[in-house]
Amino acid sequence: MEAKQSAAQLAWSALQEQSDWDSKVSLRSAVSVDSVPTQLSTPSSLESLEASSQSMPTGTSDSVVFTDSSNPSKEKDADTNKNMENRPTETRNQSRFTSDFDSIECLAKGGFGHVYKARDKLMDKFYAVKIVRSKEKALREVGALEEILHCNIVRYYTCWVEDSEYQWDITTDSYSTSQSTSNSSRKYLYIKMELCESKTLKDWINEKNKGTLQESERGKESLPIVQQIVSGVECIHSHKLIHRDLKPPNIMFGRDGKVKIGDFGLVTAEADDDAENQTERTNKTGTKSYMAPEQRSKKMYDRKVDIFALGLIYFELLWNLSTGHERGVILNNARRQTLPEEFSLKFPEENQIIMSMLCEKPEDRPEASTLKAELEKLPQTLNAQNMPQENVTV
Ligand code: ATP
Ligand code: MG
Repeated sequence: MEAKQSAAQLAWSALQEQSDWDSKVSLRSAVSVDSVPTQLSTPSSLESLEASSQSMPTGTSDSVVFTDSSNPSKEKDADTNKNMENRPTETRNQSRFTSDFDSIECLAKGGFGHVYKARDKLMDKFYAVKIVRSKEKALREVGALEEILHCNIVRYYTCWVEDSEYQWDITTDSYSTSQSTSNSSRKYLYIKMELCESKTLKDWINEKNKGTLQESERGKESLPIVQQIVSGVECIHSHKLIHRDLKPPNIMFGRDGKVKIGDFGLVTAEADDDAENQTERTNKTGTKSYMAPEQRSKKMYDRKVDIFALGLIYFELLWNLSTGHERGVILNNARRQTLPEEFSLKFPEENQIIMSMLCEKPEDRPEASTLKAELEKLPQTLNAQNMPQENVTV
C-alpha cells in the first residue's frame, strides 16, 4: 500500500513538471504518453496510480487532479487569466465560459439573454457567446443552427449548459462575481457563434436615414443586402424551418463582409404538425410590427410569414422613414399593401416586388427562390431605366 502511494506521488510530481501538462488530459492518457517517466510506464505502476487515485478523497484541490480531468490546474489558470482579476474563486464546478474564454465584453442584452464577445483561449479567436435560459426553445435555436451552414446565416460552433449565468453589471460595465443562485434548478445554455460586426441592419438603416443618399444610390446599396437575406431565408426554408422573427436587429454583418441572419430563438419546424407545435404556431410569436397578418391573428401559418417580414424590411432599406408616429403610420399602411405614392414612383420595380411580398394571403406571396430570381433580374431592369432613352434598344 505504501509503495502504491509513493508511486502515485511520484507520478503527480512528474506530471506537474511537464511543460505541456494540460489539465484536460485524463490520468489514463497522460500516463500513456511517451514523456511519462520510465518508472511509471510499467503496467503495475499504472495500476498503482489508478488504485491510489481512487482511494484519494475527492473534495480537496489536490485530489481533483486525479479524479476530475476537466479542472484546470490553478497555476496554469492564474497565468492565462491575468486580465480577469475579479473572477470568482475557482471550484471544481468552474464555469467553462470563464475557463475557456477571456477578454469577455458584453455586446447586447436581448429579450432572451445576453450576448458576449469573448476570446477562445485555445483557438486565440474571438467569438460571440449568447447565454439563454436553457429551456426547450433555446435548445431549438441550436438545433436549427446546427443543421444550417450558409454564408448568410450566423455560423454556429457549439453549445453547453451551465448552472449559472455569467453576470454582467450594466451600471459598472464589468463582470460581477455574484453568481445566480436564486434558483439552483435553473440552467443556462451557452451558444458559441461566429462574431459579427457590432452594427446590425437596424443601425445601417438608421445611418442611411440620417444621410443624404440619392434614391438611386440607396436602391443600389440595398439590393445586395436584400439579396443576401433572401438567400439565407431560402436556405432556412429549404430545411423546412421558419425563422418567425426576421427584423433589422436580428440581421447582422459578418467580419467577412456578408449579411448574416441571426437570432434563431423562435425558429420552428414547418413540417412538424404535432398538436403541441400547432398550438404554438397559432400563438402570437415574433415581433409585432414585422408579423404577417395570419401570425398576428392567431391563425395557422407557414414559411410565408418570413416573406412578409422581409417585404417590410426591404421597404425600410429603401425608404427614409422618420421616427415616431409617422413611421408607425407608414409601416401600418405598408402592412395593408399601401406604400407611399412617391415610393412607387421612385422605386417602381422594387414597389412591385414588395407589394407581392406583402400580399395578405400567404399563398400569393412569392417563395424565397422565386424572389431570389426576381431580384437577380433587377439590376438589369434598373440599368435599363437609368439609361438615356436613345441608348435603349428595343
Ligand atoms: P431580442 O429578443 O431583442 O431579439 P435576443 O435575446 O433574441 O434579442 P439576439 O437577437 O440573438 O438575442 O441578439 C441580441 C443582439 O446581440 C443582436 O441584436 C446583436 O446586436 C447582438 N448579437 C447577437 N448575435 C451576435 C453575433 N453572433 N455577433 C455579434 N453580435 C451579436
Ligand atoms: Mg433578437
